[in-house]
Amino acid sequence: VTAPLDAILAAVDGDRLWRRLEALARFGATPGGGVTRLALSAEEIAARRFLIDLARARGLAAFSDAAGNLFLRLEGARPDRPCVLTGSHVDSQPRGGRFDGAFGVMAGLEVLEAFLDAGATPPVAIEVVAWMNEEASRFAPGMMGSKAFVGEWDLPAMRSVADGAGVTVGEALDALDAAEPDVPKRPLRRPVACFVEAHIEQGPLLERCATPVGVVTGIQGTRRYRVTVSGAAGHAGTVPPGDRRDAMMAAARMIARIDAAAARVDGMMATCGMLRLELGAPSVIPAEAFFSIDIRHPQDAAVEEMDRAIEQAAAAAAGPCEIRIDRIARAPTLEFPEAMRRRIAEAAARAGEPATDIFSAAGHDARHLNAWCPTGMIFIPCRDGISHAETEWCDPADVLSGARVLAATLASAAWDPPGGSAP
Ligand SMILES: [Zn+2]
Repeated sequence: VTAPLDAILAAVDGDRLWRRLEALARFGATPGGGVTRLALSAEEIAARRFLIDLARARGLAAFSDAAGNLFLRLEGARPDRPCVLTGSHVDSQPRGGRFDGAFGVMAGLEVLEAFLDAGATPPVAIEVVAWMNEEASRFAPGMMGSKAFVGEWDLPAMRSVADGAGVTVGEALDALDAAEPDVPKRPLRRPVACFVEAHIEQGPLLERCATPVGVVTGIQGTRRYRVTVSGAAGHAGTVPPGDRRDAMMAAARMIARIDAAAARVDGMMATCGMLRLELGAPSVIPAEAFFSIDIRHPQDAAVEEMDRAIEQAAAAAAGPCEIRIDRIARAPTLEFPEAMRRRIAEAAARAGEPATDIFSAAGHDARHLNAWCPTGMIFIPCRDGISHAETEWCDPADVLSGARVLAATLASAAWDPPGGSAP
């Protein structure tokens, strides 16, 4: 038995998907056309309710788990078999874009509806997931839901993480449960046949080669650090030069050295995106500087080299201050399985959508699922490569192309699951 693919593809409705993306963008909408929809915020909880209602109106079931992941399920002929999983996230950066994450979730839901409209019952269930806290903008580090789902992070430790206001993930998850008493819970670490995440590229490559679909080959390695520089507070005008322990000046020396080290490695991305001072007053010597470093490069050896350069920068820049480096996230460069990449490329050909291989410079939940089940990703272009900004935008034609390739990929996976567990 093969998938009724022509009927499914004909039922993928670009207008419906575009309207749904616009509707989702109203939750946490910002005046600049983007969204502020932080993980487990009132805005995200309202967006989840919108998704649950949409799904139930079409007879799809909604579930969650102890990590706050939301699943929408199209039942298959064999409910006992592991499902085919797709989806992404609906949390955003502060004043972030309306397509990052949202595209993958809404495209997944569109595919389930296309299956329903085509009268196609898949052999195994297909589920759309919205992972909890992908972005790390409220609770850090991010990708909490996918890490908890695959057992990479245990729940009690995850629940103890607090946001800037002192609210813990545990408290926020309890509030989520209180808002969703009608959504049944299922266990973490469930078997899954495979995971396919559709996402905007968040870079300029697909747009430059005028190709609507990217078959993602792998994800770039990342390191994240938190640096704490400790000095001593004092009067800006009275503490003599030799006695000053200015944490900001030490931080500035260290950051300048990191910048210089990064410039010596071809393709190295080094970012200090967050800096906080204590006290942060114009006439007080800062007693403490606290900043982030984010290092990315396709080759792990280059990341290791940069890691050593950061240590050396701290040693050389500290002066009379103390510098502590905490490594808060470490993800090696990964390659998605060849079989999943081939499946997506064949689905694109079958759907008549031009596609090209592309490497992901940004991190995604698919990184963590890749350790759990065969995993792949589908990219679509975004305008000028802009993401994590209110001006993030996608062409409706590309949105439809991506959804069609996702539909063909999920049909392929449901009728012929990786691992050969087809009925
Ligand atoms: Zn994303």
